[in-house]
Formats: sequence, C-alpha cells, structure tokens
Amino acid sequence: MAEFDLIDLLAARCAASRADVVLGIGDDGAILAPPPGQHLVVVTDTLVAGVHFPLSTAPFDLGWKALAVNLSDLAAMGATPLWASLALTLPEPSRAFVEGFADGFATLASRHGVALIGGDTTRGPLAVTVTLHGAVPPGQALRRDGARAGDAVYVTGSLGDAAAALQVLLDPAAGEVDARLRTRLDRPEPRVEAGLALRGAASACIDISDGLVADLGHVARRSGVAIELEVDALPASPALFEALPDRVPRRAAQAAGGDDYELAFTLDPAREAAMRTRDGGLGVTWTRIGRVVEGEGVRLLDRHGHDIVLPRAGWEHFA
Ligand code: ADP
Ligand code: MG
Repeated sequence: MAEFDLIDLLAARCAASRADVVLGIGDDGAILAPPPGQHLVVVTDTLVAGVHFPLSTAPFDLGWKALAVNLSDLAAMGATPLWASLALTLPEPSRAFVEGFADGFATLASRHGVALIGGDTTRGPLAVTVTLHGAVPPGQALRRDGARAGDAVYVTGSLGDAAAALQVLLDPAAGEVDARLRTRLDRPEPRVEAGLALRGAASACIDISDGLVADLGHVARRSGVAIELEVDALPASPALFEALPDRVPRRAAQAAGGDDYELAFTLDPAREAAMRTRDGGLGVTWTRIGRVVEGEGVRLLDRHGHDIVLPRAGWEHFA
C-alpha cells in the first residue's frame, strides 16, 4: 500500500468533522480554532510492538488502544477531548492492517468526538504515537499535586484484569486467555466522563497505566503527602477472581499490574455522598480504597494495618 493511499484511508475513516478544525489532514500543518476562554491540555503516548502490546494484538485493537491510552491521560486531567494526531511506524503497510487499525481508532474516536487532524507515516518496527489535545476551563484541570491529609482515595472500575490477561499471554504453558480479561487489555475504556465529572471536586487525579501503587506514588510525591491503601478494598472483577483464585498473585495484579487505565483520585470524603447521588455520577462504579495522611510514600495495608510487600512495585521502563 502506497503512503498516500494509507493517509487517504486514515483521513476517510478518522477525520471526523468538527467546526473547530479549520484545516485538517492534507497540508503541511493543521489549523485549529481553540475553544474561546479555555485552556488546552496536550498529551502524548507511544505504543511499541512487543513492549506496550503483545505482537498478537489485532490491528483494530491497536488502533483502539493507541487512542484509548491518550484519552485516559486527558480524562485524568479532567479535559474534554478535541483533536488527535497520529505518528505511525509500520514495517510493511498492508491494506488489511491499516483498515483494521483505522476502524479501531475511528470507533473510539467517534464515541468521544475526536477528529484526526494530521500525523506522520514512516517505515520501521511497528510503533504508534498519538498526540491528543483537549480543553478545560481555566483553573479546573485535575492535577497530581492537590491531595491533602484527610482526603480519601478512590478508584474507578476494577483493577488487575489487563495484567492478568498479559500474564496468561506471556506464559507459553498457560491455556486460553479469558475473553473478558483480554478485552480489558486490548480495548481499555478511558474514563473520560468520570474525569469531567470530577472537575471541581477531586483534589488530585491520575490514570493508572503503570500500576496503582506506582502511579499513586506520583500523586503522593507531587502533593507532599502519604497514601495508605487497604488491600481488601481494591475492586476486582469476577473474571479476575476466576483467573487468579490465590490472593497473592491477585493482589499483585490489582496493586502493581499495569494497563488498567482506571482513574485514581482523592476527594474530601464529606463530598462522596453528593458525588454518588448527582445525575449520572461518574458513569462508572467507583470504590473507596484508602486515605491520604501526612508523610510520604504509598503503603498497602492488610485488615490488621500491617504492610503488604508486593513482588514488584509497578512497570518501569529502563529499570
Ligand atoms: P509533510 O511531508 O509535509 O510532512 P506528509 O506527506 O508527511 O507531509 O503528510 C501529508 C499530510 O498527511 C499531512 O497533512 C499530514 O498531517 C497527514 N498525515 C501523514 N501521516 C498521517 C497519519 N499517519 N495519520 C494522519 N495524518 C497523516
Ligand atoms: Mg511539509
């Protein structure tokens, strides 16, 4: 497939029409009209084959996930998604691959009103970089540095499913991966609606990509506080209980597994009831999992208040 056919195909499927895209794909640059009076929030995430996704990942799922991980970052900032650009590096651009990729990308993009406005296409080992722009009213973005002692800690959805799926995929001796877990790995649902609902309420927020404890470590550090988590409070799906019936590996997947793309946030617990009863809530279940205290670091506690030491504290590149 020639480069320009490939770009045409991406443009045809992913360049949704938005009034604020003055000039989209096809020129040297895109021209965009930022929403008046709003701040722009810009995020970028790269997925490299064999590092961020298994080589067996379907093209549709790769297109979905490349956008989903960026939508998750915008959600964690409390921003409304607007425009995406896409840098694609492909070893051998087959039409079937590009069509599948574009469909996965477009399916999620249309749900969130995102328009593809440009990008770059190169030949090389398979890698995908998406840059996503969003908007937020001045002063209302969710940040990592606002957690205060006395706040409670919450998380959306459930934890550990994607890590459990990956564990099975990487183990040649293991059988089939549970389809529910595989979906959580391949097609994460970015919590955009929750991020928007948390504006003006959450004191801090982060999305969980590298593991709950590791990512809340960033919140603790940036906020100058400590976080205590109750291991028994961490939400688990029925599929996770089935896949990991032993609690040690299950807890490890929940607390240290990556790729959850849930939002972890801190909130004055006095505001919890109002958040739960307001219209629409966060659009997803959410669970209280701990508290913010004075000090530093993140502790994971059992029901007796004893520290639990995990086999590894989360995913870190170059570790
Ligand atoms: P240039 O040579 O000026 O950098 P390109 O030939 O790389 O331009 O791209 C032509 C047009 O196609 C540009 O508008 C660019 O943003 C767009 N484009 C290229 N690759 C992609 C891609 N993977 N996804 C979306 N748009 C792309
Ligand atoms: Mg040019």
